[in-house]
Amino acid sequence: MARIAVIGAGMGAMATAARLAVGGHRVAVYERSATYGGAVGRFARDGFTFDTGPGLLQLPAVYRDLFVKTGKEPLESRVGLAQVDPASRHLFPDGTAVSLPNATRAGVISALDGAFGAGAGERWSEVTGRAREVWEATRRPLLEDALAADTTPLGRDPYPAVRRGLFRRGAPSLASVAERELADPRAAALLTSYALAYGFDPRTVPASATVLPYMEQTFGAWYVSGGMRALADAVYERCLARKVEFHFGAEVLGVRTAEDGRACGLDLADGRRIDADTVVAGAPLPAPGEPHAAGGMPGRFVVCLALRGPRPAGTAHRTVVHAADGRAEWESVFSGAGPCDSPTVTVLRPDDPSTVPDASHEAVTLQVTVATTAGGADWAAPGAAAGFAERVVKAAEAAVPGLRERELWREVRTPADTERETGAPGGAVPGPALAGAGGLHLHPANRSAVPGLYSVGGWSHPGGGLAHAGMSGAIVADLIAGGPGGSR
Ligand SMILES: Cc1cc2nc3c(=O)[nH]c(=O)nc-3n(C[C@H](O)[C@H](O)[C@H](O)COP(=O)(O)OP(=O)(O)OC[C@H]3O[C@@H](n4cnc5c(N)ncnc54)[C@H](O)[C@@H]3O)c2cc1C
Repeated sequence: MARIAVIGAGMGAMATAARLAVGGHRVAVYERSATYGGAVGRFARDGFTFDTGPGLLQLPAVYRDLFVKTGKEPLESRVGLAQVDPASRHLFPDGTAVSLPNATRAGVISALDGAFGAGAGERWSEVTGRAREVWEATRRPLLEDALAADTTPLGRDPYPAVRRGLFRRGAPSLASVAERELADPRAAALLTSYALAYGFDPRTVPASATVLPYMEQTFGAWYVSGGMRALADAVYERCLARKVEFHFGAEVLGVRTAEDGRACGLDLADGRRIDADTVVAGAPLPAPGEPHAAGGMPGRFVVCLALRGPRPAGTAHRTVVHAADGRAEWESVFSGAGPCDSPTVTVLRPDDPSTVPDASHEAVTLQVTVATTAGGADWAAPGAAAGFAERVVKAAEAAVPGLRERELWREVRTPADTERETGAPGGAVPGPALAGAGGLHLHPANRSAVPGLYSVGGWSHPGGGLAHAGMSGAIVADLIAGGPGGSR
């Protein structure tokens, strides 16, 4: 039985801790804040509750597997999971609206034909059909297995048109695939919006990012009753049931190494020294003076809106209000051009009575991908957050008629809040690993150069997002147990 010290109580870290505890190890988690879950937070006030991190879960199979492998009770006996339908509604600047049904390819084709004109659905389907080849080529190496020692093959974009050399100027970006293959600015905006939502610049991210809408349209988008935080509650409780120890308010300053160079414990900010046989870092711990590898990713701007008046029947759970000028938005998020006037806003309106004080109120969350301080935004400047929140709310009015008259209060959260809650530099939110671009979107391997030190969660392979962080937990537990990290 090894003593394992885990840094941070984020989703990746807790997924590892539960699996290792079941394997018979003594696992202790050291979390600097007062609670678990990291980015999967909840804001509560006056009977309203809001998710401050992810609003939906993709690939629930990852957490189902965690619950099966760590106990007898399956995930669905601990949390209510429901596919949202439609998966998303999209509003475009020219007034076009389209609702995409959840996880049905035929349904998506007919919805797009209806909204954009005959042929649009088939073109979309051809692109997502090619994305399926990306999924099949990368599912194991980029989601299920430990990162291969030779990552050269993952530096090449497996999107079939690229592989077959159909682009004369070399590997294209997602934006150029969208323009060329979808031949409609609204369909192109739809495709690129998936990448933007994960924090990728559509102008530079490779065509392999088509796998992001593919995953959602194939495996569905799921809501957890009570909000996504309920998933963090369930994973935490599973850890406790498996006798994982949690130490809150325990900031880790560094990993101790023995004379032979092996990780042998932690130094805590309160002066304590913790001995361990193995250390798992579930938070970014850059070496002093070294910027973190994925520090260039953008963050999220979140507005929680408490509204009077009930949620109208038939309201979509998620509506994406597309930017008036997508390229201007990408410039603002990725090139430090300052907050844009008309951002792409994801409007989340869960049909969940537990999020409101009573049926005559509604809790709405708005999410926008934005630059972090490192990316040129100064969210602490006087009026910066409040001013941008106004633009976000203005955009959201397209999805929530009468929004301003219904507003009781709002809570605004910037990347500075994410930094406080996750320790991510500048509040950046790491995206999932993608193939192509010479390996630019790969994350550091889970087994570090220091023997006995592993990393898990969004800052390591296979990258960020709830599902990917959950998979990193499975990979790291396998690596520590001596398995291949690829048994699933
Ligand atoms: C606003 C927002 C929206 C998001 N939307 C989505 C989405 O729609 N879909 C999706 O899939 N994902 C989304 N994500 C990302 C997703 O939430 C994360 O990738 C996922 O939760 C995995 O987190 P993690 O395991 O990397 O841990 P994190 O959530 O990063 O948590 C790290 C933990 O470590 C702790 N810690 C940090 N430093 C130390 C230290 N020195 N000592 C001790 N403890 C420390 C922190 O306090 C924190 O609890 C979003 C994230 C945010 C912030």
